[in-house]
This record gives sequence, structure tokens and C-alpha cells, in this order.
Amino acid sequence: MTVGPPGLRVESVDVLVVGAGPAGSTAAEHLARAGHRVLVVEEHPKVGEPVQCAGLVSKRVLALAGSDSFVRTSVRGASVFGPSLRSISFRASEPRGYVIDRAALDVFLAEKAARAGAEIRTSTRFDRVVATSSSGVTVRLSGAPGGRSDVQARLVVGADGVASAVARAFRLRRPVEILPAFEAEFPRSPGDPDSVEVYLGRTIAPGLFGWWIPDGAGGARVGVAADADGTSARTYCGRLVERLARRFGRALGSPTAYIVSGIPIGALPATSGDRVLLVGDAAAQVKPLSGGGIFTGMRCAEIAGKVAHESLARDDLSRSALSAYDHAWRAELGEELRRALYLRRIFTRLNDAELDAVVEALRGAASEATIVAFGDIDFPTHVVRELLGRSPSLVRLLPKALGAWFSSGTYRIPEVEPGPLRK
Ligand SMILES: Cc1cc2nc3c(=O)[nH]c(=O)nc-3n(C[C@H](O)[C@H](O)[C@H](O)COP(=O)(O)OP(=O)(O)OC[C@H]3O[C@@H](n4cnc5c(N)ncnc54)[C@H](O)[C@@H]3O)c2cc1C
Repeated sequence: MTVGPPGLRVESVDVLVVGAGPAGSTAAEHLARAGHRVLVVEEHPKVGEPVQCAGLVSKRVLALAGSDSFVRTSVRGASVFGPSLRSISFRASEPRGYVIDRAALDVFLAEKAARAGAEIRTSTRFDRVVATSSSGVTVRLSGAPGGRSDVQARLVVGADGVASAVARAFRLRRPVEILPAFEAEFPRSPGDPDSVEVYLGRTIAPGLFGWWIPDGAGGARVGVAADADGTSARTYCGRLVERLARRFGRALGSPTAYIVSGIPIGALPATSGDRVLLVGDAAAQVKPLSGGGIFTGMRCAEIAGKVAHESLARDDLSRSALSAYDHAWRAELGEELRRALYLRRIFTRLNDAELDAVVEALRGAASEATIVAFGDIDFPTHVVRELLGRSPSLVRLLPKALGAWFSSGTYRIPEVEPGPLRK
């Protein structure tokens, strides 16, 4: 510990991780295990709270966490409803998704990071960068217990979610867009407990979709992520709840919890800089077709941990050394996210009649078999490509560029413009 300006403590660490969500704790665990001094700061008093997630994940998340202790139930099926409520359904013979207790996942991962040697400091907020020098970055923290304090870190990992203060402090770009999302949790709900439901349509959720997810205890998580067009995501969610009540033939009752947050779409063009890496939602490492970011965030955090360890060992934390992280995670996930972003652009331009026509084109045993065979919630563009290849009526509904994509292995989907610079 060194002494900074009068009355201010300055401690030194190798890595300051900002945010104890799944991405931050995963990066912290890997770096602490490699022998680095890691401090994780979390602005909330309790890790995992408030929950801002529907908690539907693939098996890969359980594998990355090394546990299934936080799983509440699994689902094998899904139904997709068009705007007119015509639907397609499919069911696999084995679980395809896991509904988790999201707070329990966050606590599990933070405890794992702590066991590896990281210090987790709650009620502590990253405020800003106060100085940079040849030995590190000095960062101002605020909050209990010690009021303000400064930390000097050789490397800062920004895992502070969609509104990342770290990304802002290091002047990294914003995501292409941020979709407002709203979810209500109902302790009792009719519906198939082995299946999730997805609702499409401009009046329900323009820009993404609405969801009904069984919670494993007889209730359900009902939410929407929708473009901000002057109507709030909460209003859209209310419409979905009314629609569900009509479909189920009875009201869902009163919700016991609400979630309001934003989903970043369109990964940042650079997720590293001098002495900084961004992981998870802070880097917008989120699947553009579903808004899911737990798998992508945790996997990228693992990659960040490896690259950061090598850079710390060489004592080269320059932008060019850390750009190895950008290259590594994009080599694994970049093409999927890019394709999904492009497909999302096409999808969001479809009107309700066209969305109904897409659902109609997907009806039938052949499409259902293709979806069951190729459906993967982490890599959804694979099944889209298969469906386009097998369904001429679907291709006719969509732009010509997509035809080029599925008929040629080398066709490169156009880039979507990056998000704006941060002020
Ligand atoms: C309504 C909704 C439903 C979703 N459903 C799913 C789903 O079903 N499946 C899925 O995979 N994904 C889902 N997501 C996305 C998923 O929640 C995120 O992708 C995931 O939480 C990202 O993890 P993270 O660790 O990057 O960030 P977060 O989980 O957001 O964690 C960031 C942490 O940083 C802390 N923090 C922020 N600023 C500071 C600061 N200045 N100083 C200190 N701490 C700070 C926050 O308190 C928070 O704990 C959903 C998102 C929403 C909004």
C-alpha cells in the first residue's frame, strides 16, 4: 500500500476487475489462479443482486462454470408465435436449455474467484481513471466501507455491464444499439414446463421478441426486449402478459419481481486498449438474435484471462499486446456474432405479415426436424443457414443477399456499422 493525495489510500494490484457478474468473476478466477493479485470491485452490496436476466442458458455455461448447482430446470422444447399467434413448435429428445437461478450463478462464480485468491469488494464503485503512468493506471473507487480510495492497477478489466464506466473512461466505442428490456416474474403460470415460448411481432416486441420461460417452480419469467420507439419495454411486456392470459384462458396473477435493463447489441470494434480489456456486456459480447450474453461473456472472459496472464508475465500491457485478446475471441465467436447481427437487421425490417409468413414457411415436419437437429441457442445462425438451404419459400421472403450466403461457403456477410464513439 502507498499513500496518495492527503487522506487517500492507494493500494496496488496487478489486475482490477470492475463488476462481479459472470464475465468479471470468470476473468478474475483465471487471473488469480495464474498467481496475479486481483481485486474485483462490485458496486452493489450483494453479488448477483439485483438480477437482470431471464436465466436461460446452454449446457456450455454449466461447463464453463464447472457446476450445475444453480440450475432450476431444463427445457427440451420451444414454440415460436407469429404476430397472429399461429405458431411452430419443436421438441428435442434431450435438454436444449437450462433455466438458472441467475443470482446463484453469480454468487457461485464470485466464490470460485475468491477461492482462487481474488479479493471481492462489494459496495465499491469504479468512478474514473485519475492518472496513468509507466507502472499502471490509478483508478478512483467510491463507496463503503472506506469512502473514496485509489487503486493502482497494472491492468483494468472492464466487466461492468451494458453501461460500462470503464469503456467510457478508456474512450472505447459504444455498442451498435442498446435494446431496452423488461421482465416480470410470475409465481404461478399455466404453460408447458418443458418448453420456452417466443413471441414475434411489431405490436409485441419490435426489434427482438417476447419470451415466456418456465421457472422450474410452477411460475414463469415473462419479458420483452424491444426497440425504443417511444413506447417503453414495460408497456410491451404488459401487452404480452395480456396476450398470454388470452392464450392460456386465465390471468397470470401478480408478478413478484420486475427486471428493467438494457441489452447491448453489436460488439465493440475494439475491446482492448492500453492497460484495459473489456469483457461481457461491457464489450457487447452478446448474441444479436437472442440478446443472451452469459455464454459469450464467460467464454470471452476466459480468453481475456489467458491473454492478460501472458501480457502481465511479459510486462507488456500495451494496446498492441492486448489486441491479441480481440483477435482470439473474434476468431472463435466473431463470425457468428457478425452474421447474427446482419440477420437481425433483416429480421427487424420484417412487418407483421412477413413475420407470420416466415412462421408459416417454417411449419412442417422437415423444418421441425432441421431445427431439432441444428438448433443451438449459442450459435443460432447455423440453423438459419440450414433452414434457408432447405426451404425455398423462406428464401423468397428474404433479401437476395441471404441466398448468396447459404449457397456459397465463402460469401462474406456485409459489416454492420460500429456504434458511436463515447463522449
Ligand atoms: C431482461 C434480460 C434478460 C436476459 N436474459 C438472458 C438469458 O436468458 N440468457 C442469457 O445468456 N443472457 C440473458 N441476458 C443477458 C445477460 O444478463 C448479460 O449478457 C450478462 O449478465 C452479462 O454479464 P456481465 O458479467 O458482462 O455483466 P453483468 O451481469 O451486467 O455484470 C456487471 C456487474 O458490474 C457491476 N457494475 C456496473 N458498473 C459498475 C461500477 N462502475 N463499479 C463497480 N461495479 C459495477 C454491476 O453491478 C454488475 O454486477 C438478459 C438480459 C436482460 C436485460
